[in-house]
Amino acid sequence: MASLAVVAVIAGGYLAIRRLSGTTLSAFDRGPNQNVLLVTIDTLRADALGSYGGRAITPNLDHLAAIGLRFDSAHAHAVTTLPSHASILTGLYPTQHGIHDNNGYRLPPTLSTLASRLKSQGFATGAFVGAFPVDSRFGLTSGFDTYDDHYPGTSGGREFVLPERRAGEVVALATAWIRAQHGKWFAWVHVFDPHAPYRPPPPFDREYASSPYHGEVAYTDSALAPLFSTVAADRSGRPTIVIVTGDHGEGLGDHGEETHGLFAYEATLRIPLLVAQFHADGLSWDAAGSSGAATGGVAIPTPVRHVDIVPTVLDLLQLPAAAKLPGRSLLASVAPGAGDPKGSYFEAMSASLNRGWAPLRGVVLGREKYVDLPIAELYDLKVDPGESANLVAVNPERVRTLDGILRVVPTTASIGPRQTADPEAAERLRALGYVTGTAKPKARYTDADDPKRLIGIDQDIHRAIDLYQRGRSAEAAPIYQKMLKMHPGMEIAYSHLSMLQWELGDAPAAVATLRAALAAGVDSIAVRTKLGTYLAESGRGAEAIPLLQAAVGGDFPDLDALNALGIALARAGLPDQAAAAFRRVLQFSPSHAMALENLGSIALGGQRFDQAREFFTRALAADPSSAQAHNGLGIVEMKAGNRGSAIEHWKRAVAIDPTNFYALFNVAVELVNDRQRDTAQPYLERFARTAPAAIYAADIARVRALLARPRRP
Ligand SMILES: [Zn+2]
Repeated sequence: MASLAVVAVIAGGYLAIRRLSGTTLSAFDRGPNQNVLLVTIDTLRADALGSYGGRAITPNLDHLAAIGLRFDSAHAHAVTTLPSHASILTGLYPTQHGIHDNNGYRLPPTLSTLASRLKSQGFATGAFVGAFPVDSRFGLTSGFDTYDDHYPGTSGGREFVLPERRAGEVVALATAWIRAQHGKWFAWVHVFDPHAPYRPPPPFDREYASSPYHGEVAYTDSALAPLFSTVAADRSGRPTIVIVTGDHGEGLGDHGEETHGLFAYEATLRIPLLVAQFHADGLSWDAAGSSGAATGGVAIPTPVRHVDIVPTVLDLLQLPAAAKLPGRSLLASVAPGAGDPKGSYFEAMSASLNRGWAPLRGVVLGREKYVDLPIAELYDLKVDPGESANLVAVNPERVRTLDGILRVVPTTASIGPRQTADPEAAERLRALGYVTGTAKPKARYTDADDPKRLIGIDQDIHRAIDLYQRGRSAEAAPIYQKMLKMHPGMEIAYSHLSMLQWELGDAPAAVATLRAALAAGVDSIAVRTKLGTYLAESGRGAEAIPLLQAAVGGDFPDLDALNALGIALARAGLPDQAAAAFRRVLQFSPSHAMALENLGSIALGGQRFDQAREFFTRALAADPSSAQAHNGLGIVEMKAGNRGSAIEHWKRAVAIDPTNFYALFNVAVELVNDRQRDTAQPYLERFARTAPAAIYAADIARVRALLARPRRP
């Protein structure tokens, strides 16, 4: 009953004001003594939510829509995570904050963010993020007292492993922080679950078996309930402004795009935007009655933008409006007679920066959307929301007008160009399905460079990655082979194909694929590093070492190449030189998990157990999901006589990486030695069943002998 009162008071207040047709501002308490909660749901299509008519069951977000404002025509300015969040937090267009892709950029610390603005006003500030694209290294940390980005990382060549954590985990951290605050606070909560791959937890996996993306959205909604109920139950007397949005949507096949980042059609550019205010009267959050559309609240058709969020918060807190921001308060947008904003700039630059496709820029103005590409596009979103009828040919004067707006989009010239892409970041982003790389800009782009002409390649890549993730690598390889026949300059195809061949056990084919890349003029540090790695791993160190030394480079070494060089030197029986290479990696990246693991392994090889313990412990601090570090610590503990602790580390190593056969063997045998024969049984069986016989023949024989021994009652 209590929550119904909230609905009645707030929604009723709104309806009354609409009838008065005066300003709607008075429905929100305005003043500096309020908390601010910003929730960004990654990869959330506006039309996925119940209140937007979508198929996911989202009672919590629908309840929020019912007690607040629901913006039906809200647009992002970028279609990938980091550039879009930079716009949400700074209130600037990508042309102003300078971030155009997930990799190779860092938000300049000189730019004000919502966090730095509120911190200077005495707010406690906390960020709780769900995945790597908004890692602290990318600079969104500015102004946050707390920036919690401790999701599992990737290391040890586990490509396509996800550096993300569930919404429930992120929400638990955020609510604990909020409960601990005594004064006013600003919290940013970023949840990543709707991002591909779509693997909703039970019961959403069964309920949405035919549409797992919507299952992730429904799960995310349920995971947010404790956050909203914590804030709703607040008795401090201080209201909380709650803003929920998506950073971009998801293609789901729209215009041939499966995920996001290539195009800027409404599937990925249009996002949900909900604004509400909780009135701190200690009420309970009960979303049960608000499932689906039309349960109150105010739906606003006025076109609004992500850059409007910062001005809205400043407006509600009665802080001075920030100069030079392109946005305006959303509450001004809903005021009668406010008119539409001056258009919303957007871009999709990743494929241009990484693959050399034509850059995509455009503008939404009222119901019109213009996309500036070699094959330009103009749509009337009101009559053609699916963007199927391109009006460029029939309406050239509107094209000129909108193109004119695009030419004068505010741009900060002093923002630097793209830095060299961080290779470790590139690896983690590849794990999320993003294409990474570096392409030189062309002087002129033609129709052949238009993403609409190139989308087929992207679909093939997604199909191949999907097959790989299902363990069907042998079927994925021919997709890349066919792609290379048509496009022999595609680095990503060589790179993926060689990895598949390597994992299928065909080392000569993997090496031949990378040599073919070099012969075709596809010559990059990444290709040479991969080739050097495969040569070294197949015992051809004499070929690998000079290749990797050349790839490492001079004053600013390529860290991937340097780490690979260290491995090649270690394989060639040169541990001191190898250690020097890994230490050089740490000079540039002190918490580089792989380099730390490798230094630990070299110390183990030299029987320097204290040193090994130190390196493995640091590796685990950098990447809590490092199976290699757990395995190494197991050995260190065993040497120190701590069998129990050793077994625990090996158990964790095997849980993280079931193919760590070294740890699997150790835990099986030491459990037997520790007279835990029953506990050992599944480990023994697993080793005997899954360890490759070519490498572990002697160990398999020993395990089979242990299994054959009669078990004592
Ligand atoms: Zn995103």
